[in-house]
Amino acid sequence: MPYKFNFDLTNVSRQFFEDLMKASYRHGFHRRMAKTARTLVKKFKIEEITGLTFSDAISLVEDLIEIYSLNLLYRDKMKNKNKKALFLPHCARKYMDSRCKAIFDSSMSTYICQSCSEDCLINIATNLGKSKGYDVYVVPGGSCIPGIVNKNGYEALVGVACGMELKLASELIKKFNIPGQAVPLTKNGCAHTKFDLEELKKIL
Ligand code: SF4
Repeated sequence: MPYKFNFDLTNVSRQFFEDLMKASYRHGFHRRMAKTARTLVKKFKIEEITGLTFSDAISLVEDLIEIYSLNLLYRDKMKNKNKKALFLPHCARKYMDSRCKAIFDSSMSTYICQSCSEDCLINIATNLGKSKGYDVYVVPGGSCIPGIVNKNGYEALVGVACGMELKLASELIKKFNIPGQAVPLTKNGCAHTKFDLEELKKIL
């Protein structure tokens, strides 16, 4: 970061994300990852597919490596936690206008999905999170999270967000000294964002 805010990784092969995870595991420290990031950008044609500049594409891949490294670091610590929260980004709702029937709970700064659209990512992810024992929050931004965590005393967090928000969230979990897992958006932006439900399923 910083790189162009709007990008779309949904057409990049899944192998890219698997190679990213392996690279994160092998190298451990993301700061030494510049060479690997460069190789991945070229190998998976990230520049061409996303329209990002070469240096932005490298920054993006470095951010993703950092996210997956932290996931590996915290994965085992997520086990046997009873009070868990899943944070979803409101920008992934199918509709960003009055067609979305979610109710905004201002006391928690969260949208409560009313399941108006079966194929809405937020609807599916909300049901998935609840079925796995998570309290689910659909938040307008990461700044809402500290208040929610403080109020409810969560022991573990999972967040779906853009790289920038996930970086802030990583500081937060260090501050609260609780483990967390992250799922980065595959389509970034301010609306109609996307994330990989399969990846979320594996983490939950
Ligand atoms: S399914 Fe939920 S989040 Fe999606 S548009 Fe409907 S109310 Fe909004």
